Amino acid sequence: MIRTGIGYDSHRLVAGRPLILGGVELPSELGLEGHSDADALCHAVTDALLGAACLGDIGEHFPDNDERYRDADSIELLRAATGMVREAGFAVVNVDATILLERPKLAGARRAMRERLADAIGLGPDEVNVKASTGEGIGFVGRGEGVAVLAIATLRRAAEND
Ligand code: MG
Repeated sequence: MIRTGIGYDSHRLVAGRPLILGGVELPSELGLEGHSDADALCHAVTDALLGAACLGDIGEHFPDNDERYRDADSIELLRAATGMVREAGFAVVNVDATILLERPKLAGARRAMRERLADAIGLGPDEVNVKASTGEGIGFVGRGEGVAVLAIATLRRAAEND
């Protein structure tokens, strides 16, 4: 049995914060505002995995008013969510994501993001894809005010001996 889930997240770009996406810190004058490390890629992928397993959403499991998650490393939240998905009897087949961000260019960091995400999910880097697109000057992404991420995850019901 195959299951799919979608995830979406956005965070505002502000001065004085690091820009961390997929567990990789990128050189940038602006970073992402949020209670945790604001890693929108990890958050969207986490929601896609939880969605595919019908396990609610990231805000339910890791509330943004909980002091335990202040400046949390979102790679660790993703790792924990993957554990819940496995516990519910699913194996992750693959994950795909699109980052919408005006700048910086992400091409040079995509491999590192895929490797970090894959490690947290327990997949190979060839089972996790990360794409990037800009806003072409339109909307909050195009004006450079924030980042948005879309993600999709596919699961299969794990066999007894998996
Ligand atoms: Mg978020």
